[in-house]
Amino acid sequence: MAKLYFRYGAMNSGKSTALLQTAFNYEERGHRVLLAKPAIDTKGAESISSRLGMTREVDFLVGPDDHPREQFLRTIVDTNASCLLVDEAQFLTAPQVDELFQIAVLDDVPVLCYGIRTDFQTVAFPGSRRLLEIAHAVEELKTICRCGRKAIFNGRVVDGVFTFDGDQVAIDGEQVTYESLCGQCYLRESGGRLASHL
Ligand SMILES: [Zn+2]
Repeated sequence: MAKLYFRYGAMNSGKSTALLQTAFNYEERGHRVLLAKPAIDTKGAESISSRLGMTREVDFLVGPDDHPREQFLRTIVDTNASCLLVDEAQFLTAPQVDELFQIAVLDDVPVLCYGIRTDFQTVAFPGSRRLLEIAHAVEELKTICRCGRKAIFNGRVVDGVFTFDGDQVAIDGEQVTYESLCGQCYLRESGGRLASHL
């Protein structure tokens, strides 16, 4: 039976690289894979880019009101794909994640989702929360903090300064960047509190 997987990690843990490597592994064995991601992520638009320089077009973008299972079933008619890979899965809605579960269980095609667990205020993204609830398998992609400890949080940096206020979604742009942090460094920057309670 196919499964729904959630492979999560902090910023810069190589999620897109791992996704593209998985696609390569499938294709090396003669399998076709489908790539998808939420349309909310404007960086890279219709492609998945890894920091190592690899880029691939997605087969479909999932908008906020789209139904990924319908999109998948439409696309698979021509491709006979044996796997669906979803990048930036934290931006999916909970019902969309439920549809990915249906693809795995009812259509018997494995769905591998890659994403960030929590936002810069340590609160789960909607898609990640649902994936943590229903995925058959949850796996962590590890990365390290600036201090060398394992990073588990994502600090938001605006104009070079850590900030703990603002909207959940602010895609990397001119002023906003993210840095993966361990618990100790997060609390040092935030003044000792988790931002979800500020
Ligand atoms: Zn640290």
